[in-house]
Amino acid sequence: MQVIKTISHLKEILDQARASKKSIGFVPTMGALHEGHASLVRQSVLENDITVVSIFLNPTQFNDPKDLERYPRTLVSDCELLEKCGAQIAFAPSVEEVYPETDTRTFSYPPTDTVMEGEKRPGHFNGVCQIVSKLFYITNPDNSYFGEKDYQQIAVIRRMVEDLRFKTRIIPCPVIREENGLAMSSRNTLLTKEEKNIAANIYKVLSESKNTQMSLKETESWVTDKINSIDGLVVEYFNIVNGLTLASIDSWNDTDNIVGCITVYCGKTPIRLIDHIRYK
Ligand code: AMP
Repeated sequence: MQVIKTISHLKEILDQARASKKSIGFVPTMGALHEGHASLVRQSVLENDITVVSIFLNPTQFNDPKDLERYPRTLVSDCELLEKCGAQIAFAPSVEEVYPETDTRTFSYPPTDTVMEGEKRPGHFNGVCQIVSKLFYITNPDNSYFGEKDYQQIAVIRRMVEDLRFKTRIIPCPVIREENGLAMSSRNTLLTKEEKNIAANIYKVLSESKNTQMSLKETESWVTDKINSIDGLVVEYFNIVNGLTLASIDSWNDTDNIVGCITVYCGKTPIRLIDHIRYK
């Protein structure tokens, strides 16, 4: 596997690959890689001739400087994992390489980028669109792999791809979970063992909520109250929404694509965790 640091070098290699009719799969990440990321990379390796994985802790998508500061950085072990997964290229540029000047572009895809994470993390999805669009321009991939772990992010990216006419296909990949159900996340390494056990209740309660015969609004309150009743967990929001547009809905009959998206603060620090559940 090649570790590439500059845009010009990456473009040169990918231009050659394209000239010899090789397909390119792309997996954007912020590093601190785990089995969740590995599943995306393995799928890309199966479906493309060349898999490029970017490892770039993108500052423009962090609305909280403390979150950026404590984000784990593990480039050496990241590259080892990518090599094992069969990736051909790790692209790990510096911040100066990606943003030689401040990126002033703005993106707006309501309601996908204005509700939930969009509302609670102002500027977050703008930063995501800035980096993902730059990486798409650089890599020009046939297929791009995104985890449903960041459910809302996929909805925003799909809108951006339509808007800017990127030719890449967006391939959503299922959430990979710990044995206890906790969605794998780079931020989980910031939790103690005890906090991880507590955090497992998030998915447990979400799963249980599928079996209650309550109305949509009652289900929202039931999940929120039940998680808030657990010591060490505080719900920021739990919204049951249209799974495609992320617009809020009032009844189970409003559409046939429905997901519940949740953000919970866990533990003393506290660490912000996101998850979702599909109802239909
Ligand atoms: P990140 O490094 O957090 O920006 O994540 C990079 C990509 O990996 C995103 O598309 C995430 O949705 C995906 N990802 C992260 N955690 C998981 C997981 N537990 N299961 C599946 N995909 C994941």
